[in-house]
Amino acid sequence: MSWPWRAPQSAQLQLARPSQQQSSNLHNFTFITSLKSIFSQIIDREIPANIIFEDDTCIIIEDISPQAPIHYLAIPKREIKGISDLSDTDDGIIDHLMIAIKNEMSKKRIKDYRLVINNGSEAGQTVFHLHIHVLANRTLGWPPG
Ligand code: AMP
Repeated sequence: MSWPWRAPQSAQLQLARPSQQQSSNLHNFTFITSLKSIFSQIIDREIPANIIFEDDTCIIIEDISPQAPIHYLAIPKREIKGISDLSDTDDGIIDHLMIAIKNEMSKKRIKDYRLVINNGSEAGQTVFHLHIHVLANRTLGWPPG
């Protein structure tokens, strides 16, 4: 490992002096770590993705492991973990994603598509940054697995 070691860009490592109340922490310092989601890293252009659409509020990308010929992910730029983490101040964000999806699909003249939101690991969520799956161009069964 070369020296000095640098944390990856995505790992925002902060070293902070403790307040009086925190003074029992190891060596009088507090480590605060926060990892960006993979989607925030895409939004910040730290990792590549096929970006279909972007505005100030959201991004639409191609899923890296498509489950249908068309498989997009519509993602708010604000890192909200999932639907159950939406708050009253997030009012409008889902409408915004829906309109962005509708516009994109209209542009591509695709009329039939399925939107899926997995909320929580038991529901199949693997990336904890809210996103809407957009699936199209194949027959989709019901009920879903
Ligand atoms: P979910 O399982 O509902 O949380 O969906 C997460 C989705 O993100 C999966 O369909 C993954 O294939 C997709 N995904 C994970 N990493 C990437 C990436 N780097 N670029 C595009 N899609 C990704």
